[in-house]
Amino acid sequence: MKVIIIGGVAAGMTAAAKLRRLDKDVIIHVYEKGRDLSYSGCGMPYVLGDVVTDQDKLIAKTYEEFQKQDIKVFLMHEVIKVDPKEKIVHIKDLDKDLVIKDTYDKLLIATGAYAKRTHIPGSDKIDVHVLNQFSDMKLLKPKIDKALSIAIIGGGYIGIELAENLINLKKEVYILQKGDHILKAYDKDISKKALDALISSGVHVHLNQDLKSYTYQDNQILIKTNKDTFKVDLVIEAIGVIPNTNFLKDTGIDMLDHGAMITNRHMQTSIDDIYAAGDCVAYHHQIKDSSVYMPLGTHANKTGKVAANHMFGIDDSFSGIVGSNILKVCDLTFAKTGLGIDEAKKLNLNYDFVDITAKHQTSYYPGATDLFIRLVYEKDTTILKGAQLVGENGVSDRINIMALAVTKQMTAKEFSQLDFAYAPPFSPVWDPLLIAASQIK
Ligand code: FAD
Repeated sequence: MKVIIIGGVAAGMTAAAKLRRLDKDVIIHVYEKGRDLSYSGCGMPYVLGDVVTDQDKLIAKTYEEFQKQDIKVFLMHEVIKVDPKEKIVHIKDLDKDLVIKDTYDKLLIATGAYAKRTHIPGSDKIDVHVLNQFSDMKLLKPKIDKALSIAIIGGGYIGIELAENLINLKKEVYILQKGDHILKAYDKDISKKALDALISSGVHVHLNQDLKSYTYQDNQILIKTNKDTFKVDLVIEAIGVIPNTNFLKDTGIDMLDHGAMITNRHMQTSIDDIYAAGDCVAYHHQIKDSSVYMPLGTHANKTGKVAANHMFGIDDSFSGIVGSNILKVCDLTFAKTGLGIDEAKKLNLNYDFVDITAKHQTSYYPGATDLFIRLVYEKDTTILKGAQLVGENGVSDRINIMALAVTKQMTAKEFSQLDFAYAPPFSPVWDPLLIAASQIK
């Protein structure tokens, strides 16, 4: 069997490695349009913030290591067309500027997503950066070192992670956000806690900013918005991503409107022998019961593995997501799983919620800090539908417990009777999650 994989990062290279483990004879060709391979995009803000000082540590496996496993990787090779009838891909060798063809038995599309741009007037004349690929990070690093003031356009999770890393480098950091709150995946009052944390760390956050233009002035970049003017040394746009699927438009693969491919649970697209995985794919949201676009590394790795297994007849499947995510905002951790209030409203769910704040560990044990918890639940049944947690400590383990509860549709009563481990350094005798659930009547 011969497998072609398009895209050589999380989904693509997880699949390649899995395929090789399954069969030593399968022919694997990976086409990657960039020069980098198999890296952790998630670690890039921490390289820029000097938290991770060796950028090569982000590389999971090198080109040479893949070669040793007889996985043929073609860097700087962009797939420009897929012909599903003939099972041929057309590839542009970007260094040599020539087009070649290759045939497949099975194809995996793992092309990820590209960074959206504002394209406001002046964008083509000034040096506007994004942080999407390893090459973006390498380009940005020396510019950040030189810049004293940096504007981040967009207050989503990448913009926020960048801001907290850049403020640690003692830069003057601005976040310019279009709407009236940042971190829109969270309930508005909870995202306000992120806003406060950023502001008290020294980040200048400006809301309701509609960008109008960029110009150069006195070796700096002038950003004009509907309300204000900002003068900075560097601009980084972080306003979201779009699936890299333009080159597939005439294949007939089913996609959502903005280009995320629709697959079944085995990661098969609507075309025979073509699989898709990672950020170019829409996932089934188990609580919303619909396809959503939530591009995250954790899903990319899992779906790449599922696609590889299924190509070999193993009945592996990806059951979908519940929208879990986590991020560090200065000293705080924000985490969410399932539905927030706004999402419950949009779904016309008969919902209610409880908020509590409790110490994350026994209050007499040194280091106890506040942990905020919101649980969203269905009123009639008390089935838990979502959780949002904010605190300095004890967030990451508890959000995963809530992801399990939400996935398994536990009622508040079932949940509040769970046997959690207890010792003073780890939690109070009544864990904050159990306290929150027990308040649901
Ligand atoms: P990508 O990593 O985008 O790789 C796709 C590859 O395909 C690219 O190298 C691209 O060059 C190549 N390609 C595209 N089109 C073609 C073509 N036509 N021909 C050949 N090659 C092509 N996720 C989390 O879960 N947690 C986090 O904390 C987190 N933090 C992040 C922080 C940042 C700054 C960024 C940018 C992302 C973060 N993510 C995080 C998201 C995570 O990095 C992505 O979900 C993951 O990298 C997706 O992997 P992928 O293989 O689907 O796509």
